[in-house]
Formats: sequence, structure tokens, C-alpha cells
Amino acid sequence: VFQLSVPLNFLGSVYRELRQSLLDMETLFNLQKVNVSIMDKPDAKPLALSKGGEIRFENVNFGYHPDRPIVKNLNLTIPAGKKVAIVGPSGCGKSTLLRLLFRSYDVQGGRILIDDQDIRDVQVDSLRRSIGVVPQDTPLFNDTVEHNIRYGKIDATREEVVAAARRAHIDETIHRFPDGYETKVGERGLMISGGEKQRLALSRLLLKDPPLLFFDEATSALDTHTEQAIMVNINSILREKGRTSVFVAHRLRTIFDSDLIIVLKEGSVAEMGTHRELVDRDGVYAQLWSAQETLFNDEGTEREKKTEG
Ligand code: ATP
Repeated sequence: VFQLSVPLNFLGSVYRELRQSLLDMETLFNLQKVNVSIMDKPDAKPLALSKGGEIRFENVNFGYHPDRPIVKNLNLTIPAGKKVAIVGPSGCGKSTLLRLLFRSYDVQGGRILIDDQDIRDVQVDSLRRSIGVVPQDTPLFNDTVEHNIRYGKIDATREEVVAAARRAHIDETIHRFPDGYETKVGERGLMISGGEKQRLALSRLLLKDPPLLFFDEATSALDTHTEQAIMVNINSILREKGRTSVFVAHRLRTIFDSDLIIVLKEGSVAEMGTHRELVDRDGVYAQLWSAQETLFNDEGTEREKKTEG
């Protein structure tokens, strides 16, 4: 029995290791949104950002299943170098737009252009390299904090990693981890909070510094104070570098200062404009804004009452 149990234990640990590395691979694939069915055309060229990264959806149609369209005749332009927000009820197709832009899936009608190039005509690799994403739930690798950030730019120096972490307001927290930047995180490492995970993901993106940035509910797990402090940093980086950025957000306070706000409803554009224009219009956005402001003010009053008490 003893003789048998040793190799079995050994096999068990090999199995666990193998399973874990498969999990890591899976995470990596999810992160890169690799879809093997999407390939370069023989004459595909690298994406050329000649206009600074203007994104245009022209009559785009898409559904995951043929009988259930998700994006319907969608037309919208995300101007180069601007901060654009996409808002709308859960399930209206916001993350799907990102997946289409990233070519995790191809459109079924219409086309998506970046600086006048149909994204199906450019090399997928160069497209994906140009777009940085902070997804709703960022996978962490079973590796150190430093490596998890460095994944954004493999050859970055330690100083660059730390600078990115500072901008994402996570540097101080990292210093409180047992081994600082050497602390292992991920499923087999230190359990970290959702907000810490989001800040690591933001550091990764800031380090990567891509021309097009996409934030999908990237700060939703943070408290309002931290969220606003980070947004100030991100806004100033985006402005300074003239980056095109898209924010998907439920909390309108994080995006109300966008150059353009697009309100989606059931896969089409319901309203579009600046915060001021949309509030004056008194439509879906205005209602959402006023509901959230009431909630925000009520919470503020509650907090004040508690501190006074
Ligand atoms: P949320 O605000 O909740 O993140 P969203 O607006 O980003 O929602 P999407 O994630 O784009 O919405 O999803 C749009 C619709 O497509 C939803 O009804 C969803 O159930 C469906 N959907 C999303 N991903 C898939 C998939 N891989 N296969 C099938 N249906 C999907």
C-alpha cells in the first residue's frame, strides 16, 4: 500500500500542476481573447493609426446566436484622441462592442473601421497590440505582483512598473503585501480584493500604454474616493498623450466629463452627446443621472449623519 501511494501522490501533484498550467493558459487565452477562427487575410497589413485612432461602427449587426441579434444597425464614431463613454442597461451589448473591436468575433453585417481601415483587412496581431483593455474581471497569473503588472510590457524596468502602480494608486498597498512586489498573487498566491485586482489591471494597462484604451467597468469595485483619484490620473495621461479612450461605466459620475457619451439601448444608439446636452434633452440619460445623483446625495447625507452621531 505504501509503495503504491507514493507514486499516486506524485501523480496527483503532477496532475494538479498540469491542471493549473492549463488554467493559466486558459486565463492567458481569455486575456488575449484569442479566437482561432479569426485569421489574417493573405494581404493583411499592420494597422496604421494615421488619424490618431478614430473608431467607426458602420451599420454593424451581430448576434452570438442567429436568432438573437445583440447589435442592430449600429452607427457610431469614436473621435480620435477623445474620451468617450458608453452607457446603457445591463445586457444591451456594451462589452460585445469591445469584443467586436478586438476581433474576438467578426461582425455579421456592416463594418468597423479604425482610421478608415476595415479591421478585417489588418493583421489581427497589430490590431490587438494597439488596443489596451481593462476587462470587467481581470485574470491574474499565478506569479508575482511585478510580473502581473509587467505583462503589459515585458521589457519594462522595475522603475516603470512602480511608476505605473503609483498612477493606479496601488504602490502603497503593494508595499504592505508580505513580499512587496515579489508577492505571489493569483489562485495559488495571496488573495487580493476586487479593488486591488482592478488597480493591478490598470497598472498593467498604463504600463502597456497602447494608442487605444478600453475600460470595461474598470473601477467598479473601488470606493468612490479611490475611483476619483485614479480617474484624475488616467484623465491627465489620456489628455496629455491624446489617446482615444472608451469607458463602459454604470456609475455616471466617472464618465460625465467625457467628450462624448453614447447611450445604448438594445444594441442601438438611443442618445448621444455631451453630459450637458443629454441632461437638457431630458431622455434616458437624464433620468439615469438624476436617479444616481439622488442616491449619491442620500448616501452622503447618511454618511454625514453617522459622522455627526
Ligand atoms: P453588462 O452591463 O451587464 O456588462 P453589456 O451591455 O456589456 O452588459 P454584453 O456583455 O455585451 O452586455 O452582452 C449582451 C448580450 O449578449 C447579453 O444578453 C448576453 O447574455 C449576451 N452574450 C454575451 N456574451 C455571450 C456569449 N459569449 N454567448 C452568447 N451570448 C452572449
